[in-house]
Amino acid sequence: MTTLANAVQCTTQATAIIIPGKPDALTISYEQLGHHVLSFQKKIAALGITPQAAVSIALPNSFEFIVAFLAASWQRAIAAPLNSAYKQEEFEFYIDDLKSAVVLVPRGSVQHEGPAVRAARKYQAAIAEVYWNGKEVVLDIKDNGKLSRRGNQAVEKAQPDDIALVLHTSGTTGRPKAVPLTHKNLTQTMKNIKMTYQLTPEDRTLLVMPLFHVHGLLAGLLSPFFSGGSVIIPPKFSASEFWDNFITYKANWYTAVPTIHQILLRNPPPSQIPKIRFIRSCSSPLSPKTFHELESTFNAPVLEAYAMTEGAHQMTSNPLPPAKRFPGSVGIGQGVEVKILDQEGTEVPQGSEAEICIRGENVTNGYLNNPEANKSSFTKERFFRTGDQGKQDKDGYVIITGRIKELINKGGEKISPVELDNVVAQNEAVAEAVSFAIEDEIYGQEVGLAVVLKDGKHISEDDLRSYVTSKVAKFKVPKKIFFTDVMPKTATGKVQRRMVAQAMLAREE
Ligand code: ATP
Ligand code: MG
Repeated sequence: MTTLANAVQCTTQATAIIIPGKPDALTISYEQLGHHVLSFQKKIAALGITPQAAVSIALPNSFEFIVAFLAASWQRAIAAPLNSAYKQEEFEFYIDDLKSAVVLVPRGSVQHEGPAVRAARKYQAAIAEVYWNGKEVVLDIKDNGKLSRRGNQAVEKAQPDDIALVLHTSGTTGRPKAVPLTHKNLTQTMKNIKMTYQLTPEDRTLLVMPLFHVHGLLAGLLSPFFSGGSVIIPPKFSASEFWDNFITYKANWYTAVPTIHQILLRNPPPSQIPKIRFIRSCSSPLSPKTFHELESTFNAPVLEAYAMTEGAHQMTSNPLPPAKRFPGSVGIGQGVEVKILDQEGTEVPQGSEAEICIRGENVTNGYLNNPEANKSSFTKERFFRTGDQGKQDKDGYVIITGRIKELINKGGEKISPVELDNVVAQNEAVAEAVSFAIEDEIYGQEVGLAVVLKDGKHISEDDLRSYVTSKVAKFKVPKKIFFTDVMPKTATGKVQRRMVAQAMLAREE
């Protein structure tokens, strides 16, 4: 069971996927899924994609995304999902970093010369439009790029240590790090998640997390597939359709970031609350208030989990009842060893705070092309340093107390302040830019930005915001912009984001 092809058994008539739609939903059995994946795998082979070349998938949540993802990994290529809402510069970064052989885009993207298409052309990646025509998932090659197509090529068989997936972290030090995950890493997480929540073929989940993150891909899709259950996949999260879909397609659990839980609390089911086996929360801190509201409103146990890209998603989770769970804790290691280690790699006494470190078959072997980060991220005993601060109670339950790194976590979407600073600083009116997290009721955190303008230069808040919007995805655009004459610094002249945030917010009061 150590490759995706083995772990996702495509042999039964049981329902694997439901894509809600009017008048009819698209329902796909495991057997049909296997057929479509194999047929798409042949199309990828015919493109001349060599083993371990990157296939970038810039498609929204959809049946074709799933088929393309599984087919690429079965074919020993590296599936590299990308947020289809990225701007051109973001696509360029990822396509260049991955040396993508081909970029898969939705139908019509080439005619409109969308940002993914423009970025692919710049690096001579092949471009193919991918869509479901009601019978099959079509792969329509629009540009060969650097690919040399030599007719039909052999269908490959992926090995456990082949890289199946590469996703990037958001990158606190500026450059997002590319995390390769092998078939072994992914299938270990699938086993761990199945075990944690005792997933069975009877379970049905409504997937509302994007598939270009480990959260949606591993917890929302692949682990249910590993368990033989059904996954209901609307194209994107919509509060108004959530309960309708949940009830119509008889879902019994879902996983999401706290922001989505809060939105659902404000938009409860119109009539009766459906029977929910459990609600999983992950990717950013769930406040005890939201935990209690969720449990009482939806009459289901809320299980908070802790995950990261490097761990192929889940590392710890609260277990199902009757075992203990409590708000403020992300639970216990689930098929993953957890230790709280100091800077030297020594375990601290139980209850003391230090860095949360993890070890397991799910953890990446190391970042791509980043020996420096690989050296500092692993201890001698191969424990991975998460960059998160925390402690454990006497039963091993982990409580995260803060991030050693300073990323802005907007409802589970991680925004690198360094990346934003660099984008803003490119504006000709800007002398210095520092972005930081500000508390936000809905998203947990929002983006704040402090800017010092160059002498004699002026730019309005609106114009600066439009400038940033043209460079990065919308979710990264600062909510609050503060113009300041001097940037607060520490005694040694370094920028400390929290300090800048405090100084800027104090001016508002
Ligand atoms: P980078 O590695 O570039 O800094 P990142 O760590 O923010 O990026 P991800 O891998 O998407 O990117 O997120 C993992 C991080 O998310 C964890 O290290 C942790 O800080 C945070 N996180 C995940 N789950 C939880 C949770 N339940 N509570 C609090 N924080 C969480
Ligand atoms: Mg990280």
